[in-house]
Amino acid sequence: MTTASTDSPRRAASATATSARPTAPTAPTRATAPTTAGAAAPTHDGPVAPARPGATALRPLRHDAVRLTRGFLADWQRTNRDGTIPHAIEQLEASQALNNIRRVTGEHEGEFVGFQFADSDVYKTLEAIGWEAGRSDVGDLLPFVDATVDLLERAQQPDGYLNSHYQVDKPELELAPGELRWGHELYCLGHLLQAGVAWVRTTGRRDLLEVGLRFAALVDERYGPEGAEGVDGHAEIETALVETYRVTGDERWLTLARRFVDLRGRQLVGPDPLGYPYFQEHEPVREVREATGHAVRQLYLAAGVTDVATEAPDGDPELRAALERIWTSVHEHKMYISGGVGSRHRDEAFGDAYELPPDRAYAETCAAIADLQWNWRLLLLTGQSRFADEMERGLFNAVAVSTSTDGCAFTYANPLQLRTGAGGGGENAPAGRQPWFRCACCPPNLARLVSSLHDHVATTTDADLQLHLFAQGTIALGDVGGEATTATVTTDYPWDGTVEVSFDAPFSGGSVALRRPGWATGAAVSVDGREVEPALRDGYLVVDAQESPVTTITLVLPLEPTVQHPHPFVDATRGTIALTRGPVLYAVEQADLPEGVTPEQVVVPGSPVVTVAEGDAVTGPRLLVAGARVRPAGHLPLYLAEPAGSAATDAADAAARPTAEPVAAPGDPFDLVAIPYHRWGNRSAGGMRVWLPTS
Ligand SMILES: [Zn+2]
Repeated sequence: MTTASTDSPRRAASATATSARPTAPTAPTRATAPTTAGAAAPTHDGPVAPARPGATALRPLRHDAVRLTRGFLADWQRTNRDGTIPHAIEQLEASQALNNIRRVTGEHEGEFVGFQFADSDVYKTLEAIGWEAGRSDVGDLLPFVDATVDLLERAQQPDGYLNSHYQVDKPELELAPGELRWGHELYCLGHLLQAGVAWVRTTGRRDLLEVGLRFAALVDERYGPEGAEGVDGHAEIETALVETYRVTGDERWLTLARRFVDLRGRQLVGPDPLGYPYFQEHEPVREVREATGHAVRQLYLAAGVTDVATEAPDGDPELRAALERIWTSVHEHKMYISGGVGSRHRDEAFGDAYELPPDRAYAETCAAIADLQWNWRLLLLTGQSRFADEMERGLFNAVAVSTSTDGCAFTYANPLQLRTGAGGGGENAPAGRQPWFRCACCPPNLARLVSSLHDHVATTTDADLQLHLFAQGTIALGDVGGEATTATVTTDYPWDGTVEVSFDAPFSGGSVALRRPGWATGAAVSVDGREVEPALRDGYLVVDAQESPVTTITLVLPLEPTVQHPHPFVDATRGTIALTRGPVLYAVEQADLPEGVTPEQVVVPGSPVVTVAEGDAVTGPRLLVAGARVRPAGHLPLYLAEPAGSAATDAADAAARPTAEPVAAPGDPFDLVAIPYHRWGNRSAGGMRVWLPTS
């Protein structure tokens, strides 16, 4: 298949105009790599590379176009490369995930260890290294990659089947219809394909993808248009198949993905457990009204549906309308202020609208990652800043909180309050970060996201550049910027609100659009030293460079501390406030409280004075709240009885009763210190809370 240029950051740019709406199915515009194993030319795409001309409002840049050099995101990528990924490789041995596969080849004897989807931990780690291979030297990791791909090739059956749990323990049930409910066979295949896709895109290496394609062909035979009807109990294969279509150009994978989307909602995996929509199987995707059930399943499905709609010849307005309803439900009714989702521990599920208890927040790390991946797809599709805003919210809070500063310990659930003395050490109620989990979905999921973080920073259209995430580094412009070939972004965001974008030669392409975050009540822009008032379009401040080329654009975002109030329907946080500064959510942690004061005792004024104070390398900038008081530390009954109506009639008697109201305590007032929520739990044990009761 012929292709538009695949080695330009604006490859296929001529086909990106949103007005171009082909009426007939069209083939992908990117290179189709040869079908032989081994290496071909890399396509240099990152995660999500829309194939249909005109499918999306924005186009991703090349995977190697953005280089993060310093600051929050660059540090995170470095920690991921040097800490998380080598740690994950060690843990794949320690957790027996690799030995599970060696059981298939006869190189290991013993029981299968872990959950039936443990193979996916291996695949996600391979995917992380695949993205990493496009941005750093992974020579030291290649022995692991080569040995693992070799192992997978040898473990794969001649018919293409590959799943270490089924092959040894349940061979007679491989891909049996009844197994799709809990078996995760297609889920694991999805992660295998995504790992293969990453390697093809960044290096041209195809052997891992070939393993996935052989298995996918078997699945297509069993469950494709000529096969049985079925969907996997855990969505994931849908988005993986569309990405596979995008790198291979083979329509079969897109057709299979669309089939899985269209078949969902017919109870093919059987009734939902407990009688509520756990599997998103209760109604067809096109009729969905709200986000339901297992949060990661819901969000992976939404990402897959977005991919299918993106590649549909007409953009599938019906699917897009359903996606809009799910998005609104998630982001306007069911999301924590951290960007975490899934408020129910039971079944790791979405709760009802406004059911957002901070101490019982489940907010699985994978769900926050999935939401980011989904919002990236919607951002590309629509060009609207609200999707980038949600990416940013999750990134700096719900996702970042899940990793320790050394990148080698993790949370699975991410509550917004941990009570003093909470002893939970498990996955569900963490009192601190853990090196790994028996259900280890989250850590390697983080690794694959972070190694591709830079892909989410900027995009292009024909001659325009859009900046979505603010991070110090360089952006190779290819032929986007007229004379300019490189943009250099200088900033200490999110700690400092100044973002300078300078071009090595005047940018005269089209326009430069800078996201004005939803939290930013004001933003100042200057171009080459002159203050300007750029047009606001889709949430972006658009600097037009066509008539007068620009060399430097400076965006100044207000980073004053902000007080956040919960929606009145969120009963669990009524009467509290939270503190934010820019995109960063803050929390109060035991380590910063005066001797004898716990987070439960803290009370703040309803409209507190908040100042910014320097922090250290662990905490980052801190916030100080003036006028903090403490609740009584002595004994109080759990419930305080008061005769109805007595307050007005018998004030003297009421005054003599114990009260739950805050009272002055020795040592106060004190400056209450808040640190970025994502940094809690890195210094010492103890309680933490985001929402602070007001006096
Ligand atoms: Zn997870």
